[in-house]
Amino acid sequence: MPMSERLAAAFNRQIAAEFSAAYKYLAMAAYFDGLDLTGMSHWMEIQHEEEIVHARKFFDFVLEREEQVVLDAIPSPPQSFSSPEEAFAAALESERAVTRMIHELYRIAQEEGDYASVPLLQWFVEEQNEEEASVSRILQRVRMAAGNPAAMLVLDRELGERAPE
Ligand code: MG
Repeated sequence: MPMSERLAAAFNRQIAAEFSAAYKYLAMAAYFDGLDLTGMSHWMEIQHEEEIVHARKFFDFVLEREEQVVLDAIPSPPQSFSSPEEAFAAALESERAVTRMIHELYRIAQEEGDYASVPLLQWFVEEQNEEEASVSRILQRVRMAAGNPAAMLVLDRELGERAPE
């Protein structure tokens, strides 16, 4: 069944939003590499790759529904931060913004009676819940380690062990 134009436009906006999130994480990976916090840089690279996977999930879904994919411009992301804490706080804010967009997409799908979108959107609702929890936890620990290089390096080592999903 075709999507409503309104819903198709919202899905296309979400593809760009996921690529935009990917771009933000890539900038953060570069920022942490510049600080020689290579574990945090690695964590951000994995996060970047995950956002590409998210974008592709929406892309594949729009194609599967035989709707037109419209790829929007991806804005240049913030590239400098005053501290690791500020970078992780920006990551959390970005995740919350994506969550709001996915909730809005879910709401539009419901209003349009587009039940075929629900399983995918339900997956993303849960995924966002996990993303926010994980970034929030790291942010708290970066705050604890602020001003304490030994603690920051322990946290950096731990984040460097993140495996791709
Ligand atoms: Mg995402």
